[in-house]
Amino acid sequence: MTTYDIAVIGKGLIGAGAIRHLSLTQPDLNICIIGPDEPENRKTHDGVFASHYDQGRITRVLDPSPTWGNLARQSIKQYALIESASGIQFHHKVGCLRATDLPEKADTIDAVGEAFSPPYTRLDATGCSTKYPFLQFSDEFTAWDETGDAGYINPRTLIQAQLKVAEDNGATIIREIAEAIVQENDAITINLREGDSIQAKKILISAGGYTNTLLDRKLVLPTKTHSILKVEVDSDEVQRLKSMPSIITTFSHPNVKSLYMLPPVEYPDGKTYIKLGSDGNPDELLPAKQHFLDLTKSDTTAIGWFHSDGHLDIIKILKSSVHNMIRDLKAVNYESVPCLLTYTDHGNPYIDKLDNGIYVATGGNGAAAKSSDEIGRLGAMLCATDQWDSELNQDNFRCVYMS
Ligand SMILES: Cc1cc2nc3c(=O)[nH]c(=O)nc-3n(C[C@H](O)[C@H](O)[C@H](O)COP(=O)(O)OP(=O)(O)OC[C@H]3O[C@@H](n4cnc5c(N)ncnc54)[C@H](O)[C@@H]3O)c2cc1C
Repeated sequence: MTTYDIAVIGKGLIGAGAIRHLSLTQPDLNICIIGPDEPENRKTHDGVFASHYDQGRITRVLDPSPTWGNLARQSIKQYALIESASGIQFHHKVGCLRATDLPEKADTIDAVGEAFSPPYTRLDATGCSTKYPFLQFSDEFTAWDETGDAGYINPRTLIQAQLKVAEDNGATIIREIAEAIVQENDAITINLREGDSIQAKKILISAGGYTNTLLDRKLVLPTKTHSILKVEVDSDEVQRLKSMPSIITTFSHPNVKSLYMLPPVEYPDGKTYIKLGSDGNPDELLPAKQHFLDLTKSDTTAIGWFHSDGHLDIIKILKSSVHNMIRDLKAVNYESVPCLLTYTDHGNPYIDKLDNGIYVATGGNGAAAKSSDEIGRLGAMLCATDQWDSELNQDNFRCVYMS
């Protein structure tokens, strides 16, 4: 049986960031990352799923939380390095417009702007309409128009890039599902679904929503359904919307509390889509049993959800929202897709030591794609050195366990 110094479990956004940092900072260690590739057909797949099977994730520094602002800033600083070291492009600097008709949140975002100084301009509703004439906002809106490195990343190619650099630096990639971990003496045995096992002196678990399926002592890590709408647009519409930024809005509206939207992005089917979702409303609109997925014990309970087309009530709201926000939008077609969001108890990721040799970096809270490199780095450094390598307070990232 092969024994590694460190095995990262979960080949998603955070795990891929972790393995690259391990490969760069711990050149003498024998390291691997374990995780399945994206399924070719989600409607027939019966293994684990992930939160990153998509072409776009918004990236920006401005945030109501200074912690998330810091994680984003540190990660964004690495994008160009990762692109040049891997030769794989994933970063699109189209800007990010954050708009709200809830001005009481403005101070917290301004404070993060002041602390981290990303380039941005404050706009009122008229300013938004002047810069982005195809968008419509009511007079109550105030906005932050972040430029510079803000925009979106392609999560699939970011993972490819991280893994390419890690592999070039000697890391092994094991394209399998970890079935169970067994701690014995000084080594941890990882049983793989196809029957093999490997051993590692230490492991870092970054299995996203499935993290609890590998742990005896469960974390507070609620996993929630999330429905997204993809609006197909033709080349004329792409041309008309060519200056569209990524958009994040929060509303006082009773049904739609928030909305995020990406500009037209090309997908592997050769078509171009505007993608949008809403974080705020499902809690109120859906009964809890439809909203939560119990991924504490089994990785198969969510399969029905991933074979579905998302919650159609939510999709209906997203459809009317996108037409409200983009003037005269010409949609060729609509597609709805189910996804998974994983939350922590305190709203920051869990980056912590669980037991002798067992570490975790997980809990994206719907916001970790852009910041996955830094979250992965902090998990990697903690796992390799038992040191917390950040100006952020380590206590804000401690695990919270189910009672
Ligand atoms: C629709 C949607 C839109 C989003 N938009 C944004 C956005 O605009 N900006 C942003 O920053 N964030 C966004 N997010 C959040 C972001 O995508 C997640 O926070 C991020 O993917 C979390 O990374 P992760 O590595 O924890 O999990 P994942 O990316 O889900 O990776 C976990 C990995 O673990 C693997 N795994 C699971 N179980 C096992 C096992 N037993 N053995 C081995 N491997 C296993 C899975 O295969 C998967 O690859 C969005 C999320 C969704 C769903």
